[in-house]
Amino acid sequence: MDSIISLLHSYHTFNNNDIKDRFFKHSDLLNVLDNLKTNPLFEIREVGTSVEGRSLNLIKCGGGTAKVFLWSQMHGNEATATMALMDLFNFLGDDCRDDVKDSILQNCTLYFLPMVNPDGAEVFNRRNALEIDINRDFHSQQSPEGRILRQLRDEIQPHFGFNLHDQTTMWSAGQLGNPATISLLAPAYDDALSINTIRQIAMQVIAEMNDTLQKVIPGHVGRFDDEYEMRAFGDNFQAAGTSTILIEAGGYADDPEKQHIRKLVFVAMMTGLLSIAERSFLRKTVSDYFTIPDNKLHHFQILLRNCKLQTSLPAKQIETANQNSEYTVDIGLIVKEKISDDLKSMTYTYLIGDIGDLSNRFGYKDIDCESFKLIPTNKIIFDEPADLVLMDGLEVLLAIENGVITNSTV
Ligand SMILES: [Zn+2]
Repeated sequence: MDSIISLLHSYHTFNNNDIKDRFFKHSDLLNVLDNLKTNPLFEIREVGTSVEGRSLNLIKCGGGTAKVFLWSQMHGNEATATMALMDLFNFLGDDCRDDVKDSILQNCTLYFLPMVNPDGAEVFNRRNALEIDINRDFHSQQSPEGRILRQLRDEIQPHFGFNLHDQTTMWSAGQLGNPATISLLAPAYDDALSINTIRQIAMQVIAEMNDTLQKVIPGHVGRFDDEYEMRAFGDNFQAAGTSTILIEAGGYADDPEKQHIRKLVFVAMMTGLLSIAERSFLRKTVSDYFTIPDNKLHHFQILLRNCKLQTSLPAKQIETANQNSEYTVDIGLIVKEKISDDLKSMTYTYLIGDIGDLSNRFGYKDIDCESFKLIPTNKIIFDEPADLVLMDGLEVLLAIENGVITNSTV
């Protein structure tokens, strides 16, 4: 869909510049909604409140027969798609004529529920204020947020659902060597992973999304794990007759705040909406969907290959065991994110994610250390903070102290 790709050139004209990182709060969302209320295109209705009393708001626009329901951030720390929705509101709400916008608004009625979990968003937590994972609460309905989401689907009876999430940055798009920057899935509605017409249509729309994304981020699209989760909303919405599409925002090199990925989520959503509006997904097949490579947990933040280390065993023991004191391993570092105390930025701790043969794994920073010297400042222990220095001759390439990068030229 070249018309969607060309929108990227004018993205700055509808990008919501008030929201620049993942740490925006419910009050920021309400400011955006206050602006939308002045635009007759949008109907906004408060549909209930969270555990801590924050409002959930349904935004409706368009007058077409295809009903599409989009909800984001049911996991409070998965904010990327909510940012993309802010941009989408600006794009749709602008008065200038645009063929893509006109087609979507004429052929679809759109219902948005952004930030399903505002209490989680407030403290950048996956779960709601009761520590319930809302996306496992479809049946037990103990969270008010889950009840609202389920009631809205029953009330709207949408033909299509877009379930908008973030996944960790450790997923790879198959074995292509790239991170899964965007992952897509038509969730299963039973253990057998059957494909009925409802799920097939979701697969066809996804195939079209994939085509467009491949032109922008070739090889960076993955197919999310399709194991049936009977407690999750997407799986149950699919079963209830809404063709449901999961979009997961993953990782992209040098984009920790996901501002590039935000645009890619916009591209995925817009391609999906235009495909529905013009029914062009009918040209796609289930096998097109299955060409998208499976997500694999194969990515490290930093992968140090061919590190030569010295065993710390006493010389006598080495001799007895007939071992060499030097050994060669790959070391994969993962990053643990923690929200800062002011809830406005992130601290990063690098942990030893794996040690050994990582030849079929990948790194955002992928460094062959064959000719470098790796000095462990402390013992390298799996799942513990990294403490090491990587040297090229006398030059420090990378220094990590108790999990924190103190120097890096790589
Ligand atoms: Zn999620």
